[in-house]
Amino acid sequence: MLTESQHKILNEIDGSSIRNWKDWRWQLRHCVRDLETFENLLNIQLPTAIRHHFTLITEQFPMSITPYYLSLIDVDNLENDPVFRQSFPDIKELQVQKTDMTDPLHEDRDSPVPGVTHRYPDRVLFLVSNMCSMYCRHCTRKRRVGDRDTIPSRDQILQGIEYIRDTPRVRDVLLSGGDPFLLPTDYLDWILSELRKIEHVEVIRIGTRTPAVLPYRITDELVEMLRAHHPLWINTHFNHPRELTASSKLALRKLADAGIPLGNQSVLLSGVNDCPRIMRSLVHKLVANRVRPYYLYQCDLSEGLSHFRTPVGKGIEILESLIGHTSGFCVPTYVIDAPGGGGKIPVMPNYLISWSTNKVVLRNYEGVITTYKEPDSYEPTFCDRNCTECNLQLALEDAGEFRSVGIEKLLADYDDTIALIPRDNDRHERREGNGS
Ligand SMILES: *Cc1c(COP(=O)(O)O)cnc(C)c1O
Repeated sequence: MLTESQHKILNEIDGSSIRNWKDWRWQLRHCVRDLETFENLLNIQLPTAIRHHFTLITEQFPMSITPYYLSLIDVDNLENDPVFRQSFPDIKELQVQKTDMTDPLHEDRDSPVPGVTHRYPDRVLFLVSNMCSMYCRHCTRKRRVGDRDTIPSRDQILQGIEYIRDTPRVRDVLLSGGDPFLLPTDYLDWILSELRKIEHVEVIRIGTRTPAVLPYRITDELVEMLRAHHPLWINTHFNHPRELTASSKLALRKLADAGIPLGNQSVLLSGVNDCPRIMRSLVHKLVANRVRPYYLYQCDLSEGLSHFRTPVGKGIEILESLIGHTSGFCVPTYVIDAPGGGGKIPVMPNYLISWSTNKVVLRNYEGVITTYKEPDSYEPTFCDRNCTECNLQLALEDAGEFRSVGIEKLLADYDDTIALIPRDNDRHERREGNGS
C-alpha cells in the first residue's frame, strides 16, 4: 500500500501503476534533480529566498532525490523536516570554513590503486560505484558528488581486486562508493565472485543507503545473489526514526532473512538527529528491525558541511543517555574520523574515575560511584611472541606474522619501544642533529 503522498507523486510523474513505484529502476529514472519538479511533485511553492539560491548551490553540489524519499518529506513542516534537510540544498553549503577540507580523511592519498583506500592493517575500503540515488547533503565525499554517475570500468575494478589479491594481510573488504547497490545485480555478483576467489579475504562488507532511500532496490533477485557470497555483512545508513517506513522495514527483513548481519552507521547532524530522544528512538527501531547500531559519526570536516556539525559534547551527551539506559546492543560506537587519515577514533563518556594499586573507582550511568577490587596476585604470561611455546595455546600457523602497531607496541613485553615521537618534534631533531 502506498501513502497518500506517494499516490500523489506517482500520479504527478506519469500516472502509472503501483508496480512502477516499487520498481527501483523506475525510481532511479524519476529522481528529482530540479526545483520545478520538486515543487510540482510536492505541490508546494518554496520561499523566494530558497528558490533564488537553488541554481547557485546545485551548480557546485547537485541535488538528486528518489521519488520514494521525496514522499517522506513533511510539507507542512518543511524547515524542520529531517528528510528535507538531508536531501534539499541549503545555501549554507557554500560557506567554506578555513578548517574545511576537500578530502579530510585523505582517502585519495592513502590509495595504492584508484578506488582502494588501505588505511588499517587488515582491511580495505573499495569504492566500486560512483552512483547514488539520493545525494545526501551531508556526504563526506561531497567533493565527488556530481561527478558523472558512472560505473567504474571492469579494468579499474580488476586493478583493485588485483591489489587485494596481492596483499595477503587484507582479510576484510569493505565495498562502498557511491552506493554498491546501484550497480546492476550481475556486475556486483561478478565483483563479489572475484573477491570470493581470494583465499585470504575472510569477510566482505557492503555499505549502502538503499534501505533508507531506495528500499525497492532490495529485490528477491538481489538477495538471492548476495546469499551466495557469505560471509557477507551489510551496513546501512539511517539517521532518523522517520526513515524507518514499512518499505524500509521490508527491505531490512529480506536482508536479515538471507542471513546477512546488518549494522547501521548514522551521522550526527545538527537539526536532524542531535537529540538524545531522537537517537534513542532511532536505535530502538533499528534493533527491532534486526539492525545493530554500529557507528555514530561525528560530522566530518568536508567542505560544505559546517552547518551540519555539532560540538563533540553533543555526541557524548547522546551516548551518556544510551549507555546503561538501554540494551547494550542498541549503543553505537561514537567515532571521530581523524582528519589526515588517522582513521576512526572512538569517543565516550568517562566511567573510570580513579585507581590505586589494587582498586579502581568507577561510576555507572546513574551516577553511583563504586569500586572494583583488583586481584591480589596475578600471574601474567610473559609474551616474547613465541606463540608455539606459549601455555595459552594459540595454535595458529600465521600467529608469528602478527605485528604490533602504535600504543599496543608500547604495552608489549617483547618490544623495547618506550616512546612514540611525533615526526616534527624539535627537541628530538636537535638530538639527532647532535648525533647523541
Ligand atoms: C571506516 C573505514 C574502514 C572500516 O573500519 P571499521 O572500523 O573496521 O568499520 C576501513 N577503511 C577505511 C579507509 C575506512 O574509512
